[in-house]
Amino acid sequence: MISTLSSYKMPALPYELHSLEPQISRETMDFHYNKHLKAYVDNLNQLIEGSKYEGASLEDIIRYADGPIFNNGAQVWNHTFFFNTLSANPKTVPTGILGETINRDFSSFDNLKTVFFEHAKKLFGSGWIWLVKDSNKRLLVLATSNAANPMSEGYIPLMCVDVWEHAYYIDHRNRRMEGVEAMWNKTDWRTVEERFRKNQIKLCCF
Ligand code: MN
Repeated sequence: MISTLSSYKMPALPYELHSLEPQISRETMDFHYNKHLKAYVDNLNQLIEGSKYEGASLEDIIRYADGPIFNNGAQVWNHTFFFNTLSANPKTVPTGILGETINRDFSSFDNLKTVFFEHAKKLFGSGWIWLVKDSNKRLLVLATSNAANPMSEGYIPLMCVDVWEHAYYIDHRNRRMEGVEAMWNKTDWRTVEERFRKNQIKLCCF
């Protein structure tokens, strides 16, 4: 995400809207990207105008802002990160140092999936499920409500799944876990491995 003096731009989507089909429909992507994310970007641009956050990075907004500026800024970051985690041709199983660390901290990749899905099932209301790295290089699964982002607590996000209803309702109605399965299946672990290695949390560097 590049911020110019007073406006945030829509991040480019790294694939076509229909490319994640059949797991994630073109219609879902169209609403999610062109309507929901666009609304967060537009709201953020309106809100920061004339505020002390004009020109601030999204990371600084997540760190220091609260209220509507935090909510919209964090949602822009979260969605940009999330959309860049998905791929039309994902690597579906992590290998290398990330694969080894998952085995160390979760016993197996299958068990990480079980833990991740339990968090998705249990989260009441809207939010995000994350795989993060802590300052001791341990991996954790976290659930956050609404727009909250684990960077606020000092974690490095590696991947996430959106469990707001808008992320799955068109394709799966109220069946949240079917939507989570679809997003999990389009998650590109090549990208997650890269984030794990780089220790990188600034969106512009992905
Ligand atoms: Mn969303």
